[in-house]
Formats: sequence, C-alpha cells, structure tokens
Amino acid sequence: MKRILVTGGAGFIGSHLCERLLSEGNDVLCLDNYFTGSKANIAHLLSNPFFELVRHDVTAPFYAEVDEIYNLACPASPVHYQYNPIKTIKTSVMGAINMLGLAKRVRAKILQASTSEVYGDPVVHPQPEEYWGNVNPIGIRSCYDEGKRCAETLFMDYHRQNGVRIKIVRIFNTYGPRMNPNDGRVVSNFIVQALRGEDITVYGNGTQTRSFQYVDDLVEGLIRMMNTGDSVTGPVNIGNPNEFTMLSLAEMVLAQAGSASKIVFRPLPSDDPKQRQPKIGKARELLGGWQPKVQLEEGLRKTVEYFKQNAS
Ligand code: NAD
Ligand code: UDP
Ligand code: UDP
Repeated sequence: MKRILVTGGAGFIGSHLCERLLSEGNDVLCLDNYFTGSKANIAHLLSNPFFELVRHDVTAPFYAEVDEIYNLACPASPVHYQYNPIKTIKTSVMGAINMLGLAKRVRAKILQASTSEVYGDPVVHPQPEEYWGNVNPIGIRSCYDEGKRCAETLFMDYHRQNGVRIKIVRIFNTYGPRMNPNDGRVVSNFIVQALRGEDITVYGNGTQTRSFQYVDDLVEGLIRMMNTGDSVTGPVNIGNPNEFTMLSLAEMVLAQAGSASKIVFRPLPSDDPKQRQPKIGKARELLGGWQPKVQLEEGLRKTVEYFKQNAS
C-alpha cells in the first residue's frame, strides 16, 4: 500500500484523483485549504479508513511521511486565480518549494500539475513540449502562468541539484463533474447558464479555440505518469487534441441541455489565448499508449447530468 499525498485534493481534479487512488488500494492523504475546493467533493470518501483529510495551506511547510505527492493545489480558473493574484503566485511558487522540500526529505516521487498556460498565447500550433511559449510576464494572467512556469523551473532544479524524482504534466483544459459552478470556466459557465435558462456568455466573437479533455482521461494520464521510471521527468502534455471554437461549444451545450437560452457576446478578457491544442505524441509514447477515450459529446452529457443534480 502506497502512502500518497494529494495537494488540492478537495478540488475538481483532486477529488477524482483521490477517488481513483483509493479504489486502487492506496492510503490517501488529501490536503486542501478549501479556497476553490470543497468538502462536498470528497464527502463520499470520508468513511474510507485509508482516506485522511488535512486542512492546510501549501504556502506553509508541511511534514508527513509519504511515498508519492501529486501537487495540484492552486486555483485554476481565471476568475479565482485573479481574485488574489499575489496569493496565486505564492501558492504556485512557495507551494512548489515546500512540496519539493518534503519530497526531498522523505525521498518521495512528486508530480506537478502544470498547465497549457505555460505556452501563453501560442504562436506555434498545436503545442509540442519543446515550445517555450509566448507569455506576457506583466498581465492579469501572469500570476498563474508565470507561477506555473516558475514551479516547473523549481521542479527541474530540485531534480538536477538534489536528485528529487519529479514528473511534470502540462494539463490542457479539463472538465467534468465537480467543477465549481461559480468558477467562471467556460464549460461550467455555459452548462449552468443553459440549465438556468440564462444567456450564454461568449467572450469576444467566439472564434478562439480550446481542446477539452474529460477528467477521467486526465486522471488515467496522471497515474500513468507517476508510475513511469525515474528517467521520465516530463514535461508531458496531457489533453484531448480535438479542438473547438467557443461558439461551437456553446451550441453543443445548448443542444445537450435541451436549452432555449440565447447566445450573447461579451468583451474578450485581456491576454485570452486565441488557440490551444496539445500535441500528445510524448504522452502516447511514454505512458503506454495513453490517449483520451471520452470525446466532448459524451463528456458533456455526463457533466450536464451532474450539474442538473447539483447546481441548476
Ligand atoms: P480547483 O480550483 O477545483 O482545485 C484546486 C484545489 O486547490 C482546490 O481544492 C483549492 O481549494 C486548493 N488550493 C488552492 N490554493 C491552495 C493552497 N494555497 N493550499 C492548499 N490548497 C489550495 O481546480 P482544478 O481544475 O481541480 O485544478 C487542479 C490543478 O490542476 C491546479 O493546479 C490547476 O492549475 C491544474 N490545471 C487544471 C486545468 C483544468 O482545466 N482544470 C488545466 C491545467 C492545469
Ligand atoms: N519543507 C516542508 N516539509 C518537509 C521538508 C521541507 O514543508 O518535510 C519545506 C521547508 O520548510 C523549506 C522548503 O520545504 O521551506 C524547502 O526545503 P529545502 O530542504 O529544499 O530547503 P531549506 O530547508 O534548505 O530552505
Ligand atoms: N469563455 C467564454 N465565456 C465564458 C467563460 C469563458 O467565452 O463564460 C472563453 C474564454 O474567454 C476563453 C475560453 O472560453 O477563451 C476558455 O476559458 P476558461 O476560463 O475556461 O479557460 P482558459 O482561458 O484558462 O483556457
């Protein structure tokens, strides 16, 4: 039985990861400060004696004896990470230092939940891991983008300097049940708006693109990445290469939700990336043929169902 620490474990992705790790017979320590996550996301796991919950902020040191660490703690939606940008960058940078210090002390393997945002508004399309990105260092998204870039640097330096066993995964837009209905991300926004009969808010003219991955495919990729040999550090992209415009996403959500809401256009936030699509050849090669299995229509159906039960 492995002892596994999941920081940000009460969040959207973290809760699915904890659930899966427990079902595989691990001892899971879930750490969260509940900024964007909630106890409701992991309430169903509390009766499992191998699940333990700690209220803690990763910007402060943390001591525990564990074999593996998944470092997911960080608000992920623009609305939440821009709410207190200084706290966001502290979470990424000081959180990475503390979790790397912990990994170094107990010789644990540690995986960083990095992001496609390290590519910024990419001029290379689709994005391979070799691309260094096009990131504004002083804009409103920088607290998140540069925080995550600095965390990658710290991971590589703890690896090179201290021999820490690291794994960096660049996650592309992921959606599914337990997204926070108020976090302002596009999939949750559109679904909640459609179910409530409110206007669907498309930012800009809706021609910007994203590639959406269902959460189960991501969790499979994260676990496979953790289980690779020590020479595999990443970064590795994990995402679904099927790319959609926001306008087509709005139309799919309306159809799935059977909603009569109308589409309205709102100003595009600054530095909003125009396009995003992962190259996933590395993940396929290094993660035993991993590839996304759930396509957008099926994933949206499951997510709409969840929001109908929980947030409409
Ligand atoms: P989320 O907001 O649901 O989860 C983040 C969790 O971290 C929450 O439970 C939150 O309370 C917790 N947290 C935030 N600051 C903390 C702190 N200082 N100390 C302890 N806990 C803290 O978001 P998510 O979508 O589940 O994202 C999880 C991770 O994956 C994040 O690191 C995010 O950057 C990364 N990621 C997500 C996506 C995506 O599309 N969902 C894409 C790229 C990267
Ligand atoms: N740290 C932690 N848990 C541990 C070990 C270290 O939170 O089990 C923190 C520690 O407080 C420090 C950070 O991780 O701030 C980095 O640790 P490292 O050993 O790399 O640096 P140092 O302690 O030498 O500054
Ligand atoms: N978006 C939108 N309407 C919304 C929320 C977001 O059109 O109500 C757009 C946003 O401008 C961006 C895309 O959807 O172009 C994805 O936004 P999200 O915040 O989900 O993720 P990110 O921009 O971080 O990829």
